[in-house]
Amino acid sequence: MSSRREFVKGSVLAATGSLLPAGAAKDLLATENAPEATPASSAADGWYDRPMRWAQLAFVEDDPGNYDPRFWLDYFRAVHADAACLSAGGVVAFYPTELPLQQRSQWLGDRDAFGDLQAGCRAMGMNIVARTDAHACWQKVYDAHPDWIRVDASGQPVRHPSDPRYWETCALGPYNFEFMTSVHEEIMRRYKPDGIFTNRWSGSGMCYCEHCRQNFRAATGLDLPRTTNPQDPARKQYILWRQQRLFDLWRLWNEKIRAINPGACYIANAGGGALSELDMKTIDQLAPTLVADRQGRRGLMAPWANGKNGKEYRATMGGKAIAGMFSVGIEDEHRWKDSVQNGDEIRMWVADGIAQGLRPWFIKFNAKPIDKRWLPVVQDIFQWHYANEKYLRNVQPLARVGLVYSQQSAWFYGGEQAREKIEEPALGFYEVLVEARIPFEMVHDRCLDAAHLAPFRTLILPNIAALSSEQCASLGKFVESGGGLVATYETSLYDEWGVRRKDFGLASLFGVSYAGKIEENMRNSYLSLEKDPAASSVHPLLRGFEDAGRIVNAVNQVSVTPTGESRFTPLRIIPSYPDLPMESVFTRPGGTHLPGVYLERIGGGRVVYFPGDIDRTFWDVLNVDHARLLRNAVEWVTNEAPIVTVEGKGILDLAMWEQASSMTLHLVNLTNPMMLKGPVREIDPISGQRVSLRIPEGKHVRRVHLLVAARDVPYRTERDSIYFETPAIGLHEVVAVDFSA
Ligand SMILES: [Zn+2]
Repeated sequence: MSSRREFVKGSVLAATGSLLPAGAAKDLLATENAPEATPASSAADGWYDRPMRWAQLAFVEDDPGNYDPRFWLDYFRAVHADAACLSAGGVVAFYPTELPLQQRSQWLGDRDAFGDLQAGCRAMGMNIVARTDAHACWQKVYDAHPDWIRVDASGQPVRHPSDPRYWETCALGPYNFEFMTSVHEEIMRRYKPDGIFTNRWSGSGMCYCEHCRQNFRAATGLDLPRTTNPQDPARKQYILWRQQRLFDLWRLWNEKIRAINPGACYIANAGGGALSELDMKTIDQLAPTLVADRQGRRGLMAPWANGKNGKEYRATMGGKAIAGMFSVGIEDEHRWKDSVQNGDEIRMWVADGIAQGLRPWFIKFNAKPIDKRWLPVVQDIFQWHYANEKYLRNVQPLARVGLVYSQQSAWFYGGEQAREKIEEPALGFYEVLVEARIPFEMVHDRCLDAAHLAPFRTLILPNIAALSSEQCASLGKFVESGGGLVATYETSLYDEWGVRRKDFGLASLFGVSYAGKIEENMRNSYLSLEKDPAASSVHPLLRGFEDAGRIVNAVNQVSVTPTGESRFTPLRIIPSYPDLPMESVFTRPGGTHLPGVYLERIGGGRVVYFPGDIDRTFWDVLNVDHARLLRNAVEWVTNEAPIVTVEGKGILDLAMWEQASSMTLHLVNLTNPMMLKGPVREIDPISGQRVSLRIPEGKHVRRVHLLVAARDVPYRTERDSIYFETPAIGLHEVVAVDFSA
């Protein structure tokens, strides 16, 4: 979040091992865009929208008496954190609990580690959320209530796999409903925090304890499932019943918390994208604010995964404040919890989250910092964020394209293969849109009503296989009224329960019928590019392919039969032929070369349907032709002038936002040899970019300036757009366009 110059400054601070004194930080920054100080509970509709920057300190048991609270309070002040999440209880109590089954930290003595730190934060006007953890308990709990412990499929209680002094708890029975409720009530009564955040509250896997068995049988008449196949009746019921139990628990904790402090709420560590377990639409009904727990990259993962997470929460939660929790350490299965991540990796991860609307929330385990290299990094990010807060309090995104995600498709159609069948097509399309520099939002498949879809011109359905008839009807209405649609592979071939239909639910939009066969794992199949004899120029879908004869096909495809009249198609499928021996590798003559894409114009809208899983294949192979083809499809169905164009070298994640009296364009520079597998070694700057921005109707531009380069930009106005060039971009740039009142 800072220029190279500021990064160097941060490094100097790191080398001297000291932090800025609390007062001095201000002098380093232009504070004209920073907010006026507001008291912690000023807003009439609750405090939830107030905090812009979060600090989380997760105590370890030996912290009390061994750590320096002053150090942390000074740091919170220096970074302008306006809310904190502090460890209170659950596994270990960091306050003098009177609940006999809650274990006080053995280092607590007569101290109140949580209470003292909370008082210090409150004195600085911060909002406070108390952290609890519900997933583990001590032997004394086991001895008193052996039925509170998680039981595995063989009927054995489960010891904690990392620290065998603990037992794993059952999330769906009395441990949470009774014991953790009493913990939350005690914390609320003693300290009146603004909320309680619970880590690992939803269980550590299937539990076969007596409560789970009895409750599931009472609710469904079935025994707990022994298979993960979502078409097994017990598994299908379990997926729903478990959510019901957890939402009941969420409501219970909300009610008990609010009975003591009406301005507080329960903040579950929950939510996410298609692969997340709790319905995001219901989460929206329960949560006035939430935190997206995606702490860093691991394995093959692009930095835009952080922004994606923010968009997934926003899809159902709209304008509610969503914090983006990031780790300062290495996020890896080997769990180096006391590690420190490379600074530029943290910067890129957090910059992408901020661009996509997340409010930064750093998390530090262990209050005795061993490796301090992260401190100036987070300080840089937060101070820049504070200085420019006015332009980060977004009112609404301006994107015209929506990428649909579907939890029900993952649960009931994807099952154990949900990552490959549901998430990978979405990841492929996400990468396509980032490379194409098209701003877009994620859209939840239970939010396809007219109000939710009003901002969008185009919807993309990346193998959204499981859709109800009502959802299909909503999509039909969207197209009829002028919307564009791009869909791939098995989209709508299953109902909302993952049961295959006789034909696509969207058959009339696609202009095809299911021909009864899926071709999987095809080798050596192609798409030939066709020229329309009746047209003088190449079809827009093939723009950029003028000199190409054929491109590679997808790996899997649905066999379909066209239902409409026969017409020109720009792509035809060359069926698979042998790839060995080499003498055998040639296109076989004859046969019908079916269309590789179907284009429809319905009402005012346009539809592109690909029977192949081009998007998933793209994520697998990253073939540039597929990226171009999918981009062309999105542009053809969108059929309007883009709201933004950014020309120049590099890969940029874009976001466009409107604030109270301004709009912003975020340009996050992801150009990096470590873009798809972190951590990045350093930020690689890119050259200046030529930008055109469409100005919303009725707005008049007063000033265009850059929030990272910290200077005005000369621009020219032409019709409804402004044109300008940015200087070279390091980590990111944010273009702020002020409107006259
Ligand atoms: Zn259980």
